[in-house]
Amino acid sequence: MSADYTSATQQQRHDWTRTEIRALFELPFMDLMFQAQSVHRQHFDPNLVQMSTLLSIKTGACPEDCKYCPQSGHYNTGLEKEKLLALEKVLEQAQLAKTNGASRFCMGAAWKNPSARDFPHVLEIVRQVRALGMETCMTLGALDQEQSDALAEAGLDYYNHNLDTSPEFYSSIITTRSFQDRLDTLERVRQAGMKVCAGGIVGMGESAEDRVGLLQELANMPEHPDSVPINMLVKVKGTPLQDVENLDPFEFIRTIAVTRIVMPRSYVRLSAGRQSMNEQMQALCFLAGANSIFYGEKLLTTPLPEESADLALFAKLGLNPEQLHTREPAALKPHLQKTPREQSPLFYPVQQKLLTETLN
Ligand code: SF4
Repeated sequence: MSADYTSATQQQRHDWTRTEIRALFELPFMDLMFQAQSVHRQHFDPNLVQMSTLLSIKTGACPEDCKYCPQSGHYNTGLEKEKLLALEKVLEQAQLAKTNGASRFCMGAAWKNPSARDFPHVLEIVRQVRALGMETCMTLGALDQEQSDALAEAGLDYYNHNLDTSPEFYSSIITTRSFQDRLDTLERVRQAGMKVCAGGIVGMGESAEDRVGLLQELANMPEHPDSVPINMLVKVKGTPLQDVENLDPFEFIRTIAVTRIVMPRSYVRLSAGRQSMNEQMQALCFLAGANSIFYGEKLLTTPLPEESADLALFAKLGLNPEQLHTREPAALKPHLQKTPREQSPLFYPVQQKLLTETLN
C-alpha cells in the first residue's frame, strides 16, 4: 500500500485503520518525514512553535498507580509532596510564564479526581489566570459532567487527560482506572465545550503495535484533540518502569510524524523526555510536525531543558514562539508580517534577517 496521506481529501479523518497507521510507521524514514512536513505546512506555519508552561499545583501522594509516575503514592521516589498551592503563588508563576513568552499556562494536580473541598479553589485559579490574558489548561484527573461544566464556565480553555497507551497495554501500566474511564472523562470535557488535550507516552516497554493503537484511538475520537502531547518516558528511580529498555529515538520521531499525519490540525506537543533529547533530535521532531513544547523549569516533576538552551535552539533553527491569537495560515510567511510575537522576549528575527540579506 502506498500510505500517502498528504492530499487534502485525506485530512481530518476519524476512521483510521490500524493497517493504515502501521503502514505509515513502516514507511522509509525520509518518505515519512516528507509526508509529515507536507501535511504540517498545509495547516501551520512551520516556523512557529506554541509554548506552554506547566505548573504542578498539587504534587505527589496520588492514589493512582501509573507505573511511569513519580507522583503516585504507590511508589517511593523521594518526591517532595506539596498541598494545593495558594492562589497568589499560582498567579505569580503564571505572570512569570507570560513574561517569558508562554501563551498557555497549564496546571496539574496529582489527584484521582478533584474533591468537593478543593474544587472551588481550582475554579478561582482558572478565573484569575484567565484574567491575566493567558490560555488556561488543567489536568486534575477524572471529571464528572458537573465539574466539567463548572470548569468550562470558569473559563478553562483546555483540559488535559492523556490516554497514555493502547487499550491492550493499558492494564500493564495502570490498574486503578480503565481505558474507558479516560474516554468517558474526555467525552464530558468535549460536552462541556472545552478543548481537549490528550496524548500518550512511548518508551514504556510497549510494542510497536501499541503505538499504532494509541494513535488510532486518538485520531478516531469524534473530534481530534486540539493538543496531542507525545511524551517519551522519563525513567524515574523508584517507579516500576525505572529499568525499562530505551526506545530507539527514530521510533519516537516516527511517532511524532505519524501523529502529525493522522491528526493534521492538532498541535503536536513535544513533551516529557525532551530533556534527554539532543538538539538534532528535537529539530527532527519539529520537522516531523511537532509544533508545541513545554517551556519552563519543570514538567510537573521531571526537569525540562534550560530555557536558555531552548532559546539557543530556536535561534539556530529560526523558530519563533506562536503568540496567542496570532495563528496564521501557512501561506502567510512570518517575515512578511508584523505581529505581536515580535514583542515577545523570545522573538528571534532570523526570518527578517535572512530576507533582508537575500533581497539586498
Ligand atoms: S500520572 Fe497523574 S494520575 Fe497517574 S499517578 Fe501520576 S499524578 Fe496520579
